[in-house]
Amino acid sequence: MTENTDKTPSPVRYLKGVGPSRAETLARSGISTVEDLLYYLPRKHEDRSSITPISRVRVNQTATICARVVDLQSAGGRYGRVHRLMLWLEDDTGEIQAVFFNQRYLEDKFEDGMRLILTGKVKLYGGRGKSVTMQLVSPAYEIAGDSDEPASGGIVPFYTVPAGLSQPLLRKLMRNALDLVDSELPDGIPETLRRKRRLPSLRTALKNAHFPETERQHREALRRLKYEEFFVLELALALRRIRNLRQTGAPMKITPKIDSRIRALYPFALTKAQEKVISQIRADLQSPHPMNRLLQGDVGSGKTAVAVYALLAAVANHYQGAFMAPTEILAEQHYRTLLRYLDKARVKMAFLTSSAAARRKEILGKIASGEVDIVVGTHALVQKDVEFANLGLAVVDEQHKFGVMQRASLRTKGRMPHVLVMTATPIPRTLSLTVYGDLDTSILDELPPGRRPVETHFVRRGSEKRVFDFVKKVIETGRQAYFVYPLIDSPPATPKPRASARGCLAALPATRNDNSKAADFSPRITSPEGQLRSATEMHRRLSKEIFPNLRVALLHGRMKAPDKERIMSDFKSGRTDILVSTVVIEVGVDVPNAAVMVIDHCERFGLAQLHQLRGRIGRAAYHSTCLLLGKPETDEAQRRIKAILDTTDGFKIAEEDLRIRGPGQFFGTKQSGLPDLKIADIIDDFKILRSAREDAFELVRNDPALSTAPNHAARVLLMRRLGKKAGLISVG
Ligand code: ADP
Ligand code: MG
Repeated sequence: MTENTDKTPSPVRYLKGVGPSRAETLARSGISTVEDLLYYLPRKHEDRSSITPISRVRVNQTATICARVVDLQSAGGRYGRVHRLMLWLEDDTGEIQAVFFNQRYLEDKFEDGMRLILTGKVKLYGGRGKSVTMQLVSPAYEIAGDSDEPASGGIVPFYTVPAGLSQPLLRKLMRNALDLVDSELPDGIPETLRRKRRLPSLRTALKNAHFPETERQHREALRRLKYEEFFVLELALALRRIRNLRQTGAPMKITPKIDSRIRALYPFALTKAQEKVISQIRADLQSPHPMNRLLQGDVGSGKTAVAVYALLAAVANHYQGAFMAPTEILAEQHYRTLLRYLDKARVKMAFLTSSAAARRKEILGKIASGEVDIVVGTHALVQKDVEFANLGLAVVDEQHKFGVMQRASLRTKGRMPHVLVMTATPIPRTLSLTVYGDLDTSILDELPPGRRPVETHFVRRGSEKRVFDFVKKVIETGRQAYFVYPLIDSPPATPKPRASARGCLAALPATRNDNSKAADFSPRITSPEGQLRSATEMHRRLSKEIFPNLRVALLHGRMKAPDKERIMSDFKSGRTDILVSTVVIEVGVDVPNAAVMVIDHCERFGLAQLHQLRGRIGRAAYHSTCLLLGKPETDEAQRRIKAILDTTDGFKIAEEDLRIRGPGQFFGTKQSGLPDLKIADIIDDFKILRSAREDAFELVRNDPALSTAPNHAARVLLMRRLGKKAGLISVG
């Protein structure tokens, strides 16, 4: 038995009805085994049980018939006359005609002897001396082929047919392949689970996915195949997690003394949510296995404060800590924040980015010798030449901007450091169960006290004056404001012709760390005025024409690091009133006195970006306002604006974002680790995903090697689907 289940499914070329040349054709559609063929599901089904024998067709009713062409004739089509193609058709019970007008190309399509399925209204034709016949007028037609099911064929599958094959042939091959399911494809879902979830067996599911007798059978079949797809993915994630649990990490001891020394550094009381997350992290750090935790918390929820706890715990245990941010501005800001927290602690900090080239060598030396306790930096931290003496914890802020690969490369820096990934773009539940499904998750679902929700308004293009007046008033009360634009510079006067905005976007390289670029995934249409406002141009106008008496500064990603630093610190300390910027301030920037944000060309920003940008204000007890200026024209842009006006709940926004853009775009990079799902959909089939995950994790908990007899087939399925290449299985 076991030998049988271990063998890989046989090549499709040995299937009855397939020879070398058809095998080649199938291979071009990605079908090389019998299994591939069986999972090549129909694109639709049609209910053929409604086919009427010709003898029972009634005049003035719509009927579907299945009949053979016995003759065909065409007439007209010249000198302005209507072209008419007549078909004479018959089945076992009678005869009928079909007529098509002005569809000359059909002459080449139909031939004598061909079997057709036709649906149309039945009329009487003839009279006045000629015989009267029934006629189908301009029916919908479909070529049924010789070996098609009989007229009473029930529900019939339709495939996307690879060039050179035909619908009937594919149906025949499927039937042949279905005969092999028992001997070729062991059911990978253990029977207990099938029973628990009321799932049909693999054979029944495959049969009904192709040839169901009822719609319900078809639905159940798909449910099973979707479950199976999620089940494989979740098994892999569960095994990855188990493997992680077997690794030795950097176990720490967090004594009450260490705990209270860390707490003394906070100038505020921790929120309940922060306390809860810190206790989860504390448990992880003290366990012998490396932590692998995702910390989600809306902007301003206090993630950095939590990270500080973990970093100090590491240092107290004589490990080094690394804190990685996606942009230099952010890294810089975290560095300052940490310096502030650690003012009274005896901790040696270093700052490392790629632009700090001059001191780089010196800093690297200190990291390698262990002279430095905590290093803050950008992705420069994961470059090859960085060596840690004893890295115990890596904190990665704003996960979305880091590829999964970079997360992985941190792991090679120490033996097996604990990893804490923080994201302010909440991960929709669907994705936290898949892409991030091997991480433990913590959520900061409570804002520090004293915050007031940001008020958001949409202002139509043309009403800028109202915006400027409002901003002026707020600044007079002592607050500060951001103005955000999608571009650094205005494009040249004559914009380059674009074939398709979408196409162009698709061709852009995925430079996730380029913090200067505008609207990374959104933007589609140049504004109707033809010109996009840019930060540089608007900085000039705002400072010279609109707010001549205010201090207006410009910040963008192409500036040199020291300039950026100076501009940020001027704004932070209140030496400037208005900061004109690009999305460079999207993440993490923290200036509590800023209470207004104007986002111009708001239709060009993605939903996540809008949410992040808005999160820059409302960071203190002041009343804050976000003004979205623009002219959303596409349906998608309107949905984005509506979503951002409707809620400030980051999770809801993330779910909506995922819905609008679809999972591929949501992540934007190939290496996101997004599962390649063929049948299931992570949004529509969320419930199935959740049960498959629950089952897979429980299975792995009870049988980590998948070695018991009932789980053997699950293991075979996993190996077949994901293979060893994924490196997921280190069973036994
Ligand atoms: P995040 O990283 O989640 O955006 P931060 O940790 O940067 O949030 O915190 C945002 C702001 O709130 C900071 O100014 C921080 O000092 C402050 N803060 C954090 N936790 C608390 C708390 N428990 N009570 C009051 N203020 C807090
Ligand atoms: Mg932050």
